[in-house]
Amino acid sequence: MRRKFLKFFTSSFLAYLLLPYKFAFSVTKKIINKNLTNQQKNILFNEGTERPFSSSLLYEKREGYYHCANCGAKLFSSNAKFDSGTGWPSFSESLPGAFKTKVDYAFGMKRTEYHCAKCGAHHGHVFNDGPGKDGKRFCNNGLCLIFKPTN
Ligand SMILES: [Zn+2]
Repeated sequence: MRRKFLKFFTSSFLAYLLLPYKFAFSVTKKIINKNLTNQQKNILFNEGTERPFSSSLLYEKREGYYHCANCGAKLFSSNAKFDSGTGWPSFSESLPGAFKTKVDYAFGMKRTEYHCAKCGAHHGHVFNDGPGKDGKRFCNNGLCLIFKPTN
């Protein structure tokens, strides 16, 4: 009897310990790139944010495409990239169907989070103060992107 209780107690305690982990890595998000760093994983799967002005992609001016660091899906064309001054790589539009969005309320602000349509990994937030015809500004973590130049 006592042993049974102990077993139940141990297993529920374990489940409790694993809960945050399970929550952070929900089923829709899957690690595909096994070489991701912990920092990348924290952003892609835990909706973290990199330090502003830390990404080398801010200074990337070549023509090409930006791909998901996790699954490799093509997300942005260099034609849509612009300098927003925010410290994060910014784009006025994504490639069609590249992302899905969800409204979040982190830090008491209503923001629209977007994630890779293919693998579910978080990339950034989209705002309505962009320079293009749609007025969109995709504020993307540089660590979530891999740039492949056309030439
Ligand atoms: Zn992806």
